[in-house]
Amino acid sequence: MTLTTDAVVVGAGIGGLVAAHALAEHGLRVVVLEAAHRAGGPIRGGSFGSLPGVPLDLGAESFAVRGGVVEELAEKLGLTIEAPAGLSAWGYAAGRAFPLPAAGVLGIPSRPWAGDVRRAIGWPGVLRGSLDRVLPSRFVDTTDLGTFARSRLGSRVADRLVTPVAAGVHSAPLDRLDVAAVAPGLLDAYARTGSLSRAVASLRAAAPPGSAVRGIDGGIHTLVNALVERLDVRLGARVVGVERAGAIEQVRREAAAGAETGAAAADTVGRGDADWLVHIMNGQVLRAPRLVLATRAEFGPLPAAGAEIALPPAPERGADIRLVTLLLEAPELDAAPRGSGMLVAPGTTPGAVRAKALTHATVKWPWLARRVRDAVGPGWHVVRLSYGRIGEPTPEPTADEAARDASALLGVDLTGRVRDVLHQRWDGSLPPPTPAYRAAIKQFEDAVRAEPGLDVTGGWIAGTGLAAIVGHARGIAERLGERS
Ligand SMILES: Cc1cc2nc3c(=O)[nH]c(=O)nc-3n(C[C@H](O)[C@H](O)[C@H](O)COP(=O)(O)OP(=O)(O)OC[C@H]3O[C@@H](n4cnc5c(N)ncnc54)[C@H](O)[C@@H]3O)c2cc1C
Repeated sequence: MTLTTDAVVVGAGIGGLVAAHALAEHGLRVVVLEAAHRAGGPIRGGSFGSLPGVPLDLGAESFAVRGGVVEELAEKLGLTIEAPAGLSAWGYAAGRAFPLPAAGVLGIPSRPWAGDVRRAIGWPGVLRGSLDRVLPSRFVDTTDLGTFARSRLGSRVADRLVTPVAAGVHSAPLDRLDVAAVAPGLLDAYARTGSLSRAVASLRAAAPPGSAVRGIDGGIHTLVNALVERLDVRLGARVVGVERAGAIEQVRREAAAGAETGAAAADTVGRGDADWLVHIMNGQVLRAPRLVLATRAEFGPLPAAGAEIALPPAPERGADIRLVTLLLEAPELDAAPRGSGMLVAPGTTPGAVRAKALTHATVKWPWLARRVRDAVGPGWHVVRLSYGRIGEPTPEPTADEAARDASALLGVDLTGRVRDVLHQRWDGSLPPPTPAYRAAIKQFEDAVRAEPGLDVTGGWIAGTGLAAIVGHARGIAERLGERS
């Protein structure tokens, strides 16, 4: 059976949902096809069995304010945005805990000599880091974050400040992170200012004051719920192939004719021959003039008016991440001993701590603290520990091990205080945005953009994180949104 619609979106992660929502706002009928039995990918809600009324995020829990796109969307969907409590995050490196310097980007300090930087990396680190202000800006390899940060600011800054933050967020070593992908705007600012710390200062000055991230009252997953409610999302619908409805020669003729007459590629959209046929595993076929791939297609290459478009090589497998969320009865944590949480540098905690990050969720998110207090009274806390880095064996922490790690990181004995626990696995998530992969993606995206009625979005194209994905996915409507 073939169903005809205006646009088909493959994948109901945040990228696909936002692209579909933007197309629907242009008055198009959109169908979203999702292989899994729930939407949202790593944006997922849940709750403790003992506190069913208190929502929790079991994956992504915040978004970067960069660009203002996620806030705009959340407001449009009627959700309440909330800033994290003003407490700083802490770092843990070389066996020491310290508040992370306030004025940084991905742990890169804007003033390497500032008091909070000195307390974290000591005088030798400060002296080396300050050289960044006088070293010539040319002849520096800026492709990966590790080489860039190390050559400008030295290894203490790279290992103790940048690694816990950047490698914690992306679950990959610094040398696997493409600078342009993980720190948008940083390279332009570096070219303008001639120094990495000055570039960070200029990005911070341009950003809204206060924290660079926000949450949503009720959890980030409410964003997915709100989008799904407004869209036609078909769950359990795995797409197994796509093709053009007409003979590919016909499509090519149309595209060539369009090019000769100077018509935009989009002009061929809506002529039946150029329609896409999208095959679902259950045998159903959807036909539409517009197709958005919001996940890395497992079925390529893509039929195209020009030469076939080969899919970019698969990214390096991301880390197997384990999240352990603990409900703790521990009034000692009311004092927020380590601010909103900690990011742990790898290899610096012999024996004791295996977690790579800890979020003190009831300190970080006032909405969650209110709900937990209303449900069970004061003195109860939610703490989330994150495990798993590229190149390490997959960790399988038990609740007791996680509680031991939390005790070490928070400096409070939490033995016997666990009242409930949630385990969440994210296998192979967060493939590292290596410079080679980003270059291949750029080439692929350019080829797709030249193709009438076809677009791609999602983290595999736009880079990890809601700020990058939402902005990219909304842009699709400008290219594919016009009704023909
Ligand atoms: C543990 C964790 C914590 C994170 N925390 C944050 C955070 O706090 N803030 C932040 O900004 N980002 C965070 N991220 C990153 C962020 O969640 C992701 O970058 C983002 O959710 C990816 O969205 P996406 O739409 O690109 O991909 P996905 O959400 O992976 O969506 C792709 C969808 O396509 C579906 N699919 C695949 N193949 C097919 C097929 N053949 N047919 C149909 N459907 C198919 C998949 O089932 C999936 O649902 C976190 C990620 C993880 C893993």
